Amino acid sequence: MKVYYSDICLKHAPKHEILSGTLVDYVESPSRLTTIVNQLQTQSSSKHFEFLSPSDHGLDAILAIHDVDYIEYLKSAYKEWCEEGGNKNGVIPEAFPHSGFTSVSRGKIKNLKSSIAKAGLYCFDLSCCITEGRPPGHHANSKLSGGGCFLNNAAITAKLLINNPDSNGNARKVAILDIDYHHGNGTQDIFYSQSNPLYVSLHASNDFPWFTGEVTEIGEGEGEGYNVNIPLPEETSDEIYCELLEKVIKERIIPYGANYLLVSLGVDTYKDDPIGGFQMTTDVYKRIGRIIKSIELPTLFVMEGGYYLETLGINVTNVLLGFMDN
Ligand SMILES: [Zn+2]
Repeated sequence: MKVYYSDICLKHAPKHEILSGTLVDYVESPSRLTTIVNQLQTQSSSKHFEFLSPSDHGLDAILAIHDVDYIEYLKSAYKEWCEEGGNKNGVIPEAFPHSGFTSVSRGKIKNLKSSIAKAGLYCFDLSCCITEGRPPGHHANSKLSGGGCFLNNAAITAKLLINNPDSNGNARKVAILDIDYHHGNGTQDIFYSQSNPLYVSLHASNDFPWFTGEVTEIGEGEGEGYNVNIPLPEETSDEIYCELLEKVIKERIIPYGANYLLVSLGVDTYKDDPIGGFQMTTDVYKRIGRIIKSIELPTLFVMEGGYYLETLGINVTNVLLGFMDN
């Protein structure tokens, strides 16, 4: 299996964030990546993983998903924030132009000069501390960061595949399977009115990002019927999760007839995860990999969440080993 990884991602290393009112160490830490990479490289199965550096596809692929003003903001945000006197730990918004904030003037928003003010314009929560590097993506939509995500990596890849027809000139169909503990509100939002890709998410029903992820969110217009949410209770076990995963694959993903599968892979479903966690154990992840293999499509796993460092590397590796039927 090919593993694409860059040390550039390690540059994203804010010191702390505010979680449920408490100042905590930043959960989206570089140690997550080093733990996963070390596990893939050192364990006996390392012969199965070929490490490669990602190639640069330029900004066009990103701009096919994200608004140009948002990307321009991200490019300069940290530098301007520091120049304006913001804390060097990273950009954290201090005011949001909430839709219920009736005095918000559209003209004023367009002409915002302050990078401190802009932070609230391009972010929906306090978790996106901008420094450098590139963290996960499924909470980011076309113009907003949030949930530790800035660029929606799965959405960018899906669009890149969809926009490049196969050798016979036929459009490629993509299915995105999101198995992170949290609902991928950004991916849902980006493709909500489109029938390609199909978006399927299994996630916690009563957790971040709180306002999305209901069964009734099925897509709209051309996209109606191509957005599938399966919200789950905290007590979800290995057995129940696997049953539901197999069911949605059989009933929704296989009939869709995709050419490619993208998996938004989060292992924050693990029972001891500090910001997530169903009742799932390390043993289940190989089984999940095998179930995904049963779809029999060319597959890309895109790393999303998973924050319990002691088992993070093993759980991720197990999904990939299961997929390879090892
Ligand atoms: Zn998550």
